Amino acid sequence: MQRFFLSVCIAALIASGPASAREQAVAGNSVIGFIDAIKADNLAYYTGRKADFFFTLSKGQKPLATVVACSDSRVHTNMFSADPEGRLFMVRNMGNQLAATEGSVEYGIYHLRTPVLLIIGHTRCGAISAASSDYSKESPAIRRELDSISIGKGLSNIEGVYANVHNQVVAAMLKFDDELKAGKLNVIGAVLDFADDLHLGAGKLTIINVNGETDARKLEDPEALLTKPTSTAAGKTKKNAR
Ligand SMILES: [Zn+2]
Repeated sequence: MQRFFLSVCIAALIASGPASAREQAVAGNSVIGFIDAIKADNLAYYTGRKADFFFTLSKGQKPLATVVACSDSRVHTNMFSADPEGRLFMVRNMGNQLAATEGSVEYGIYHLRTPVLLIIGHTRCGAISAASSDYSKESPAIRRELDSISIGKGLSNIEGVYANVHNQVVAAMLKFDDELKAGKLNVIGAVLDFADDLHLGAGKLTIINVNGETDARKLEDPEALLTKPTSTAAGKTKKNAR
């Protein structure tokens, strides 16, 4: 009886093995499932667009914004842009910081000359939790990246997220001071809140800093806070446009 029961169990395991793996694959919870999913999603993406769309992209990029976002898997461009292709120059690292990928940010500002540098933090950020606590046991590379998130210890996550975004905006304004003064760049800080920690709606993107201004009332009219091209810069632009 025992042997029979064992045989039934083994048979059941063999039978359920491949089916279970396939189910996982379809659900995208395995490597095979992941490969299947990206192929299917890409197929739907490229067959759903006209060739002109890709032809335009192939001619070059002139993005409107350099975006520094956290690498967190819960943060993606589709949350705040319906057409990111060619418009958003994406730079990502843990904790949405300038220092960790400074060259990429400089490329967006100095070479692509995006008029916007958008820094996006997000609620429930693991990098912020780590940076505001003891991370001395992390690897040297992780410690190095966390070191450049200068926030106080013991902050709540949302306090740390805000502090970090404001710090990054300040750092960017200092670094790209010439571009700001010439009216060629605006530095914007925002928080993407999928946890509804701000009680404004789960998934809402809230702008918390425009060129150093953090007053919520003033942020309601961001246009008034944008940099204006200086006459010299405007003259150069006009001359270059000819
Ligand atoms: Zn994060």
